[in-house]
Amino acid sequence: MTPLQQPLFNRLALIGFGLIGGSIARAARAQGAVRSIIATARSPQTRKRVAELGIVDQVVETNAAAVEGADLVIACVPVGACGAVAKEIGPHLSKGAIVSDVGSVKGSVLRDMAPHLPAGVHFVPAHPVAGTEDSGPDAGFAELFVNRWCILTPPPDADKAAVEKLKTFWSHLGANVECMPAAHHDLVLGITSHLPHLIAYTIVGTADELSSVTRSEVLKFSAGGFRDFTRIAASDPTMWRDVFLANKDAVLEMLGRFNEDLAALTRAMRSGDGQTLFDHFARTRAIRRGIVEIGQDSPAPDFGRRQPTLPAEPLPRPYAADNE
Ligand code: NAP
Repeated sequence: MTPLQQPLFNRLALIGFGLIGGSIARAARAQGAVRSIIATARSPQTRKRVAELGIVDQVVETNAAAVEGADLVIACVPVGACGAVAKEIGPHLSKGAIVSDVGSVKGSVLRDMAPHLPAGVHFVPAHPVAGTEDSGPDAGFAELFVNRWCILTPPPDADKAAVEKLKTFWSHLGANVECMPAAHHDLVLGITSHLPHLIAYTIVGTADELSSVTRSEVLKFSAGGFRDFTRIAASDPTMWRDVFLANKDAVLEMLGRFNEDLAALTRAMRSGDGQTLFDHFARTRAIRRGIVEIGQDSPAPDFGRRQPTLPAEPLPRPYAADNE
């Protein structure tokens, strides 16, 4: 990422300042993408923390005050809160401003925000497909979007120049940008993100409901696959409640297909049909390799987790190799 000579926007307003808002602020500042950043958040505690962090130019109390004079406004709140935010900021937006968001569902955001935005304001919804299981203003970091996708879902009548300018903004934050219709986004993310989260939340909950003796062993031996589900299932409950309510139709569609495939594998296992199991696992292994090849994950063993080093002391004689 090369910092810009000339900022793309004069004044960026961030409404909501958690993992995503905080990462945008840090990256936009590091890249010189905006001349100044003004931020707000719902709670006084978060606003106080944002001011302490010193990564924005001004922290204000209300959404309305935040957007005054801003030429880029990004709502970084749960998708269920986007409509109320749009209603609040609508009358205070500057003519020509670009209004965007970062919500993980796009159809509902378009439906809830668009009616409150006045003519002369350019609405270009966005979804940076990047994140961690952490939340809050301290969780953000400038590199979060590097080499990750940011999907823009402009409505068909969106201003082309505004779309291009937002694309350029996200590119300077390190993201690869692609445009698609909101409904298509919700279907794709339904299978690649929302359903996996639903499965992780379910399996971790199921393990938790086992008897206490077994549960301690579940935690102890979690490296056998379960640990990776626990990371996903530690994601923010508010955000994910809103995602499943807002993208209900697409997730239910994907869940139906998933249940059919699960039933087929169950049948193969029950009937001792090893070939079906092998063929399926061989196909999914190739998908994993494809993800690594296009640079969307690390090929390092154990998903790139740092490997512990061997004990410094050599093993006692009987365990050492005897062909030295
Ligand atoms: P976060 O760290 O929990 O921060 C959320 C922010 O929204 C906080 O400032 C919070 O204010 C505010 N907020 C929460 N509920 C609100 C409400 N009802 N009205 C107004 N403000 C509210 O969340 P995040 O991870 O940054 O997620 C923000 C958005 O990014 C969500 O729409 C999510 O779908 C999307 N997204 C998340 C990820 C991810 O992996 N986390 C990835 C891509 C996109 P307080 O701190 O004052 O409570």
